[in-house]
Amino acid sequence: MRILIVEDELPLAEALTQILRKNNYTVDTVNDGESGLDNALSDIYDLIILDIMLPKMDGISILKKVRKEGISTPVMLLTARGEISDKVQGLDSGADDYLAKPFASEELLARIRAISRRKGELLQDNSLKFGDLLLNISTLKLTKDRKEIKLILKEFQLLELLITRKNLASSKELIIEKVWGFDSEVEHNHVEVYISFLRKKLIYLNSSVTINTVRGVGYILESN
Ligand code: CA
Repeated sequence: MRILIVEDELPLAEALTQILRKNNYTVDTVNDGESGLDNALSDIYDLIILDIMLPKMDGISILKKVRKEGISTPVMLLTARGEISDKVQGLDSGADDYLAKPFASEELLARIRAISRRKGELLQDNSLKFGDLLLNISTLKLTKDRKEIKLILKEFQLLELLITRKNLASSKELIIEKVWGFDSEVEHNHVEVYISFLRKKLIYLNSSVTINTVRGVGYILESN
Protein backbone atom coordinates (compact mmCIF):
# COMPACT_ATOMS: atom_id res chain seq x y z
CA MET A 1 0.00 0.00 0.00
CA ARG A 2 1.43 3.36 -1.07
CA ILE A 3 0.71 6.42 1.05
CA LEU A 4 1.25 10.14 0.39
CA ILE A 5 1.85 12.36 3.41
CA VAL A 6 1.34 16.12 2.97
CA GLU A 7 2.43 17.80 6.20
CA ASP A 8 4.48 20.97 6.76
CA GLU A 9 5.43 20.36 10.39
CA LEU A 10 8.72 18.63 9.69
CA PRO A 11 9.07 16.62 12.92
CA LEU A 12 5.51 15.31 12.54
CA ALA A 13 6.02 14.56 8.84
CA GLU A 14 9.20 12.67 9.68
CA ALA A 15 7.58 10.73 12.53
CA LEU A 16 4.60 9.74 10.35
CA THR A 17 6.91 8.61 7.59
CA GLN A 18 8.93 6.45 9.98
CA ILE A 19 5.87 4.88 11.59
CA LEU A 20 4.27 3.99 8.28
CA ARG A 21 7.51 2.63 6.78
CA LYS A 22 8.04 0.54 9.87
CA ASN A 23 4.60 -0.92 9.23
CA ASN A 24 5.51 -1.95 5.70
CA TYR A 25 3.78 0.88 3.87
CA THR A 26 5.48 2.64 0.98
CA VAL A 27 5.53 6.34 1.78
CA ASP A 28 6.12 9.61 -0.10
CA THR A 29 6.27 12.77 1.96
CA VAL A 30 5.96 16.40 0.85
CA ASN A 31 5.87 19.55 2.97
CA ASP A 32 3.78 22.11 1.06
CA GLY A 33 0.41 22.28 -0.63
CA GLU A 34 1.57 22.67 -4.24
CA SER A 35 3.80 19.59 -4.10
CA GLY A 36 0.97 17.81 -2.32
CA LEU A 37 -1.43 18.55 -5.16
CA ASP A 38 1.13 17.54 -7.82
CA ASN A 39 1.75 14.22 -6.12
CA ALA A 40 -1.92 13.58 -5.40
CA LEU A 41 -2.85 14.17 -9.05
CA SER A 42 -0.42 11.41 -10.09
CA ASP A 43 -3.13 9.03 -8.81
CA ILE A 44 -0.65 6.37 -7.69
CA TYR A 45 -1.62 6.34 -4.03
CA ASP A 46 -3.83 4.05 -1.99
CA LEU A 47 -4.20 6.71 0.69
CA ILE A 48 -3.41 10.42 1.14
CA ILE A 49 -2.78 11.79 4.63
CA LEU A 50 -3.41 15.51 4.25
CA ASP A 51 -2.80 18.34 6.69
CA ILE A 52 -5.25 21.26 6.41
CA MET A 53 -3.03 24.28 7.20
CA LEU A 54 -0.24 24.17 4.62
CA PRO A 55 1.99 26.72 2.88
CA LYS A 56 1.15 27.54 -0.79
CA MET A 57 -2.20 25.71 -0.84
CA ASP A 58 -4.42 24.47 1.99
CA GLY A 59 -5.54 20.89 2.37
CA ILE A 60 -9.23 21.51 1.68
CA SER A 61 -8.38 23.18 -1.68
CA ILE A 62 -6.13 20.25 -2.59
CA LEU A 63 -8.88 17.81 -1.70
CA LYS A 64 -11.45 19.65 -3.81
CA LYS A 65 -9.13 19.76 -6.85
CA VAL A 66 -8.27 16.08 -6.47
CA ARG A 67 -11.93 15.08 -6.31
CA LYS A 68 -12.75 17.39 -9.22
CA GLU A 69 -10.22 15.44 -11.30
CA GLY A 70 -12.16 12.28 -10.50
CA ILE A 71 -9.50 10.81 -8.25
CA SER A 72 -11.17 8.73 -5.56
CA THR A 73 -8.10 7.86 -3.47
CA PRO A 74 -9.11 7.77 0.20
CA VAL A 75 -8.06 10.97 1.99
CA MET A 76 -7.46 11.26 5.73
CA LEU A 77 -7.37 14.87 6.92
CA LEU A 78 -5.23 15.94 9.84
CA THR A 79 -6.98 18.60 11.91
CA ALA A 80 -6.00 20.56 14.97
CA ARG A 81 -8.04 19.32 17.92
CA GLY A 82 -11.48 20.86 18.19
CA GLU A 83 -11.68 22.41 14.74
CA ILE A 84 -15.14 21.06 14.10
CA SER A 85 -15.81 23.34 11.14
CA ASP A 86 -12.66 21.93 9.48
CA LYS A 87 -13.89 18.40 10.02
CA VAL A 88 -17.32 19.13 8.58
CA GLN A 89 -15.92 21.05 5.64
CA GLY A 90 -13.35 18.32 5.04
CA LEU A 91 -15.90 15.52 5.02
CA ASP A 92 -18.17 17.62 2.78
CA SER A 93 -15.26 18.14 0.41
CA GLY A 94 -14.75 14.42 -0.04
CA ALA A 95 -12.46 13.34 2.79
CA ASP A 96 -12.92 9.76 4.00
CA ASP A 97 -11.71 10.27 7.53
CA TYR A 98 -10.02 12.79 9.75
CA LEU A 99 -7.64 12.53 12.64
CA ALA A 100 -7.21 15.24 15.28
CA LYS A 101 -3.67 16.19 16.28
CA PRO A 102 -2.02 15.07 18.41
CA PHE A 103 -2.77 11.40 17.82
CA ALA A 104 -1.26 8.08 18.82
CA SER A 105 0.47 6.14 16.07
CA GLU A 106 -1.67 3.12 16.93
CA GLU A 107 -4.76 5.18 16.20
CA LEU A 108 -3.40 6.31 12.85
CA LEU A 109 -2.55 2.73 11.92
CA ALA A 110 -5.97 1.52 13.02
CA ARG A 111 -7.67 4.16 10.88
CA ILE A 112 -5.58 3.17 7.88
CA ARG A 113 -6.62 -0.42 8.34
CA ALA A 114 -10.24 0.64 8.65
CA ILE A 115 -9.96 2.45 5.32
CA SER A 116 -8.47 -0.61 3.64
CA ARG A 117 -11.29 -2.68 5.06
CA ARG A 118 -13.77 -0.31 3.48
CA LYS A 119 -11.83 -0.79 0.26
CA GLY A 120 -12.83 -4.43 0.19
CA GLU A 121 -10.89 -6.64 2.54
CA LEU A 122 -14.22 -7.45 4.07
CA LEU A 123 -15.83 -10.09 1.86
CA GLN A 124 -19.32 -9.76 0.36
CA ASP A 125 -20.92 -11.95 3.01
CA ASN A 126 -19.54 -9.74 5.80
CA SER A 127 -16.71 -12.14 6.57
CA LEU A 128 -13.07 -11.55 7.17
CA LYS A 129 -10.77 -14.18 5.74
CA PHE A 130 -7.56 -15.42 7.24
CA GLY A 131 -5.90 -18.62 6.05
CA ASP A 132 -8.56 -21.36 6.03
CA LEU A 133 -10.83 -19.36 8.34
CA LEU A 134 -13.83 -17.14 7.70
CA LEU A 135 -15.01 -14.89 10.49
CA ASN A 136 -18.49 -13.47 10.01
CA ILE A 137 -18.69 -10.06 11.64
CA SER A 138 -22.50 -10.09 11.86
CA THR A 139 -23.13 -13.58 13.22
CA LEU A 140 -19.79 -13.99 15.09
CA LYS A 141 -19.49 -17.44 13.50
CA LEU A 142 -16.05 -18.77 12.78
CA THR A 143 -16.02 -21.24 9.91
CA LYS A 144 -13.52 -23.65 8.42
CA ASP A 145 -14.90 -25.64 5.49
CA ARG A 146 -18.24 -26.90 6.78
CA LYS A 147 -17.34 -26.84 10.41
CA GLU A 148 -18.36 -23.77 12.36
CA ILE A 149 -18.39 -22.45 15.88
CA LYS A 150 -19.96 -19.37 17.41
CA LEU A 151 -17.63 -17.03 19.24
CA ILE A 152 -18.63 -14.96 22.21
CA LEU A 153 -18.26 -11.22 21.68
CA LYS A 154 -14.87 -10.76 23.35
CA GLU A 155 -13.40 -13.75 21.52
CA PHE A 156 -14.75 -12.34 18.28
CA GLN A 157 -13.36 -8.86 18.90
CA LEU A 158 -10.00 -10.31 19.82
CA LEU A 159 -9.83 -12.52 16.72
CA GLU A 160 -11.06 -9.68 14.48
CA LEU A 161 -8.31 -7.47 15.83
CA LEU A 162 -5.69 -10.15 15.17
CA ILE A 163 -7.00 -10.73 11.62
CA THR A 164 -7.15 -7.04 10.68
CA ARG A 165 -3.65 -6.46 12.05
CA LYS A 166 -2.44 -9.24 9.75
CA ASN A 167 1.32 -9.59 10.11
CA LEU A 168 1.63 -7.11 12.98
CA ALA A 169 1.87 -8.50 16.48
CA SER A 170 -0.71 -7.19 18.96
CA SER A 171 0.44 -6.37 22.47
CA LYS A 172 -1.69 -7.13 25.49
CA GLU A 173 -2.03 -3.38 26.08
CA LEU A 174 -3.38 -2.85 22.58
CA ILE A 175 -5.75 -5.81 22.90
CA ILE A 176 -7.11 -4.48 26.19
CA GLU A 177 -7.50 -1.00 24.70
CA LYS A 178 -9.30 -2.24 21.57
CA VAL A 179 -11.36 -5.07 23.03
CA TRP A 180 -12.11 -3.93 26.54
CA GLY A 181 -11.56 -0.18 26.25
CA PHE A 182 -9.14 2.27 27.79
CA ASP A 183 -10.67 2.72 31.22
CA SER A 184 -11.42 -0.94 31.85
CA GLU A 185 -9.93 -2.68 34.85
CA VAL A 186 -9.00 -5.72 32.83
CA GLU A 187 -5.67 -7.33 33.63
CA HIS A 188 -3.16 -8.92 31.29
CA ASN A 189 -4.17 -12.42 32.35
CA HIS A 190 -7.68 -11.77 30.97
CA VAL A 191 -6.10 -11.54 27.53
CA GLU A 192 -4.24 -14.81 28.12
CA VAL A 193 -7.50 -16.51 29.09
CA TYR A 194 -9.29 -15.36 25.93
CA ILE A 195 -6.31 -16.29 23.77
CA SER A 196 -6.48 -19.80 25.23
CA PHE A 197 -10.24 -19.99 24.50
CA LEU A 198 -9.58 -19.00 20.89
CA ARG A 199 -6.72 -21.47 20.53
CA LYS A 200 -9.03 -24.30 21.68
CA LYS A 201 -11.63 -23.26 19.10
CA LEU A 202 -9.03 -23.19 16.31
CA ILE A 203 -8.04 -26.73 17.28
CA TYR A 204 -11.70 -27.81 17.35
CA LEU A 205 -12.08 -26.51 13.78
CA ASN A 206 -8.89 -28.30 12.67
CA SER A 207 -7.69 -24.96 11.34
CA SER A 208 -4.13 -24.49 10.14
CA VAL A 209 -4.26 -21.01 11.69
CA THR A 210 -2.46 -20.60 14.99
CA ILE A 211 -2.13 -17.72 17.44
CA ASN A 212 1.58 -17.41 18.08
CA THR A 213 3.15 -15.66 21.03
CA VAL A 214 5.92 -13.22 20.16
CA ARG A 215 7.81 -13.02 23.40
CA GLY A 216 7.84 -9.53 24.85
CA VAL A 217 5.70 -8.20 21.97
CA GLY A 218 2.33 -9.89 21.92
CA TYR A 219 0.29 -12.19 19.72
CA ILE A 220 0.21 -12.75 16.00
CA LEU A 221 -1.93 -14.95 13.75
CA GLU A 222 -0.21 -17.36 11.41
CA SER A 223 -1.55 -19.60 8.70
CA ASN A 224 0.70 -22.64 8.57
CA1 CA B 1 0.20 22.50 9.00
